[in-house]
Amino acid sequence: MELWYTEEHTPTVRFSIKIKEQLLSKKSPFQQIDVFDSEEFGRFFTLDGLMMVTEKDEFIYHDMIVHVPMATNPQIKKVLVIGGGDGGTVRELTRYKTIEHIDMVDIDQIVVDVCKKLLPFTSKKLSDKRVNLYFEDGLKFVRRFENEYDLIIVDSTDPFGPGEGLFTKEFYGNCFKALKKDGILVNQHENPYYESYSSAMRRAHKRIKEFFPICSVYQAHIPTYPSGHWLFGFASKKYDPIKDLDAEAWNALKLDTKYYNTDLHTGAFMLPNYVKKALEQVD
Ligand code: SAM
Repeated sequence: MELWYTEEHTPTVRFSIKIKEQLLSKKSPFQQIDVFDSEEFGRFFTLDGLMMVTEKDEFIYHDMIVHVPMATNPQIKKVLVIGGGDGGTVRELTRYKTIEHIDMVDIDQIVVDVCKKLLPFTSKKLSDKRVNLYFEDGLKFVRRFENEYDLIIVDSTDPFGPGEGLFTKEFYGNCFKALKKDGILVNQHENPYYESYSSAMRRAHKRIKEFFPICSVYQAHIPTYPSGHWLFGFASKKYDPIKDLDAEAWNALKLDTKYYNTDLHTGAFMLPNYVKKALEQVD
């Protein structure tokens, strides 16, 4: 018997991966968690039937969500990760010796426990001594800080279910307040291709722009996410991600990355015309 994982990318489009076995199926108070093993993508996990991380292509997402802000401001020392329960974002951050403190707040401790057990390739650095884990709603957590972080990374689920609050105006305003005067906010910004995702992307961009003087979007190719074309938001109080890219400093670190490099950094901000147009509609 063949077993397939099938995800609905739209009501009329489906994406399937042949699976070897299902390793876990569990309902937490917040979401349905499933872990699978497959020939093509290795282990992968889903929340509420949506792909979060696969062993084969997670490097693309985690390289792009971490190294783009870090190469723009290599002085970053204190970071807040909101969501990110699989640990991949923290894993990339811990590669920087200059980072002194990482807070990670995920609403769901069960996701983190499952990933620690079944996805060691992403979760292996959650025990780094610079990392502090908090289990609560990121929307509430961020409210209590002012002028605290150099970088906030929103590594969240999509804007429905527990992740909904992480796409609101209130949340972006509180992130602005929690950042230092040269702080950077990076968030996963959905895909521009399918209308339901694209409208979430435009809404998020509009809300972020209300607070941050520098606000751009960059892209990556992620095969297992809807349409394979994924966007990230880059918002900042001071640094421009292209003009202020410190390629020399970043390359001197000699980090061995599988996707990110400093040429691609600039290229990732060069968007296709239909995406530019969609973003201009909200400018
Ligand atoms: N790379 C992923 C993607 O875009 O598909 C995101 C992965 S990460 C696993 C998303 C995490 O966000 C989950 O662990 C989930 O529990 C967490 N999350 C969702 N809503 C949250 C909230 N309001 N506060 C904090 N964490 C939240």
